[in-house]
Amino acid sequence: MTTRFDSPHFTLQELADGVYVAIAKPEGVAFANAAIIDLGGETLVLDSMNAQAAGADLRRAAESLFGRPVSQLLVSHPHGDHWKGNGAFDFDTRILATKPTRELLKDEATRERALWEDPSPYHQALAGYRERLESEPDSRWRTGLERSIKRVEHALAEIPDFVIRMPDATIKNKHTFKGSRRRAHVQHVGAVHSKDDSYLVLPDDGLVFMADLGFFGELPVMMHCDVDAWHRQLDSLQAGEYETFVPGHGPVGGKAQLAEQRGYLDHLEDKVRQALAQGGEVAARKVEPGAPYASWLDGQMARLEGDIDYFIKYLQGN
Ligand SMILES: [Zn+2]
Repeated sequence: MTTRFDSPHFTLQELADGVYVAIAKPEGVAFANAAIIDLGGETLVLDSMNAQAAGADLRRAAESLFGRPVSQLLVSHPHGDHWKGNGAFDFDTRILATKPTRELLKDEATRERALWEDPSPYHQALAGYRERLESEPDSRWRTGLERSIKRVEHALAEIPDFVIRMPDATIKNKHTFKGSRRRAHVQHVGAVHSKDDSYLVLPDDGLVFMADLGFFGELPVMMHCDVDAWHRQLDSLQAGEYETFVPGHGPVGGKAQLAEQRGYLDHLEDKVRQALAQGGEVAARKVEPGAPYASWLDGQMARLEGDIDYFIKYLQGN
């Protein structure tokens, strides 16, 4: 069920009484999904999206749903599309992350601050996207370029108001958020999709908020991943007791979507391996996934390049 809260950045979907996911809209600047959870007496938010504007809408949604400030915000991993909205939450919201994620966020924050002082990398990226858009005939690339332009333009526009908020405290693996209504278990799995990932299990509701261990109906971002660890995590969730999975990117799914994502990792690895054997790196960089993954490529061609690049290095032992 979707609720009436309206944001250009996400659609709010109720998964259980008091449990909501904010699914990023492709045309907005949220970029990643987030969750709003009524623990009973207090509100927990998982991740804060890619921009202050999206984070502000997420905060408003949480406040209007439960009529109180958000008490805790957990950052699942250090990628910007999961924490850049932190600054939209005020200081009565405690921001939490694992210790390694907090350390990695310090580097991310340094990079962000450098971009405020000298935003020329943003301008160069924009110029590159616009130039390519003028001559690019492939509509799958064009969709991605248009989205990238919008995202970078928004990042530039937000610089004057942007606030970086780092985690106020760290949590350990198996940390449990507990309210009068439900529990939420943190599973800290270390380097899987990023350099440090955590996800959240709501055992009383049978829900798993996978953060970026999950990319449903779209290509996973692999540039910082450990694909062997990712296989293990997906296999363990597949064998586990839960049936409903909320990915960091894409719609809510079940074990079929987990299997499909696992299938993509194997499929692309096989294709890149074959292409490397037959035509070397040049051939490998031209690989495209077949069905059902070919339908995921609209707007995702840059991600495909990154995934192929990952597998070339992986298969060459680099
Ligand atoms: Zn990520």
